[in-house]
Amino acid sequence: MNLLLFSENDRIGADRIRLSDHRLQHLHEVLESSEGDSLRVGEINGRMGEAEVVKLSDEEALLDVRLSAAPPPKLPLTLVLALPRPKMLRRILRMVAELGVEALHLVNSYRVEKSYWQTPVLDAAVMDDYFLEGLSQSRDTVLPQVSLHKRFKPFVEDEFPALAEDRRCLLAHPGDYPPCPRVAGEPSLLVIGPEGGFIPYEVEKLQESGCDTVSLGPRILRVENAVAALVSHFS
Ligand code: SAH
Repeated sequence: MNLLLFSENDRIGADRIRLSDHRLQHLHEVLESSEGDSLRVGEINGRMGEAEVVKLSDEEALLDVRLSAAPPPKLPLTLVLALPRPKMLRRILRMVAELGVEALHLVNSYRVEKSYWQTPVLDAAVMDDYFLEGLSQSRDTVLPQVSLHKRFKPFVEDEFPALAEDRRCLLAHPGDYPPCPRVAGEPSLLVIGPEGGFIPYEVEKLQESGCDTVSLGPRILRVENAVAALVSHFS
């Protein structure tokens, strides 16, 4: 944990927070903190800074916080991702937050198994926990915006145009396509498919909606590795 994140609910005074959950355990077991120590903290969706440990016991930690800095800017990147299986989804949620992706749209696709939509990982509170792990790793406080789209066609026809407006839109698809360009700093949208890949109909719909198709070369990457490799083109 490179940044200890807290929320409004942890505040017990203007500049004081109280911790009694896994973060208390982390202070004891990983950071081996003592009273008087300082550590980096951030308020979820707010500013970051330092905190001094003013009391530390087995039951609670009291920290005085001084929030002096804004979090790092997000990448101006919207990621549209075919819903992966739950195990991979967990890792991708952490990664998306860690890499600074601004918005994540999880969409259905022909090769997404219906049962994936039932996973508890998609509960908003559970997703936030995975995002928080990524944010505390990379020292950021701002949760990515996330939306779920259980039907591909209505998503592409009705919602995609607004998301794509004034953005460079790229569809990553294995094949004989130009390489993914570097587009750091430009508002962009990136589409990544399911483990089995998008079917031709879906590729056509996305192309008709304004996506340029790009490739990462002849190696087919596992979805989570494709996310990491592709997002690096936008930072
Ligand atoms: N089974 C599919 C590949 C799916 S890989 C096939 O054989 O075509 C899952 C997703 O990762 C793809 O939909 C694509 O968005 C991305 N991806 C993986 N490797 C890629 C590559 N070499 N070029 C572009 N996109 C890639």
